[in-house]
Amino acid sequence: MQVQNRFERLMAVAAGGETDRHLAHLILAPRDGVGCLPLRLGLGLEAFRALLNRHFTGAVQWLDREPDYLLLTRSAMREELLQLRTEEWQELVDLLERHRRPGIESALSQIIAAGCLGGDHLWRDLGFPDRGVLSELMQLAYPGLKALNDKDMKWKRFFYKQLCENGGSYVCRAPSCEQCSSWSDCFGPEV
Ligand code: SF4
Repeated sequence: MQVQNRFERLMAVAAGGETDRHLAHLILAPRDGVGCLPLRLGLGLEAFRALLNRHFTGAVQWLDREPDYLLLTRSAMREELLQLRTEEWQELVDLLERHRRPGIESALSQIIAAGCLGGDHLWRDLGFPDRGVLSELMQLAYPGLKALNDKDMKWKRFFYKQLCENGGSYVCRAPSCEQCSSWSDCFGPEV
């Protein structure tokens, strides 16, 4: 089945929420071997099924049948990597949750935090088709964070900078961005 058809198939049963399109990308990406997320997006089995039931009625049945052996193996490895970094993941979840707009799916914070633990740009690790989809999601679901990122910092770097400013030690070794030798790691195009 073509990727576009699967996306359309999922959207055909979408509940009509503002972030359903973003969730559809997130759900399908690991099934296409794209991005860094495990098949259940870093959620437990029940939480993942509940997410599907809330947003895509009836999708559990056909999505559960799909993944092949390689995808399952890859997913298990991703799950293990996440388990190794649960403290960091939780700090990212907490940051996102503090800024999540009321009424927006709360599992999104857990999924985005799991994507932050991958090694690529966040939009790629989440399996979005481009950075614009991630920026749109941030505007919809976390408008406070989007507003705070007024210099259009790379999203992962921006989140870790927030943690850094709240007493963590993840990103910044320089007193200011202007004096920092890592400037290009934090700003500039994410392609
Ligand atoms: S440019 Fe340097 S100081 Fe600024 S956020 Fe990045 S690492 Fe931190």
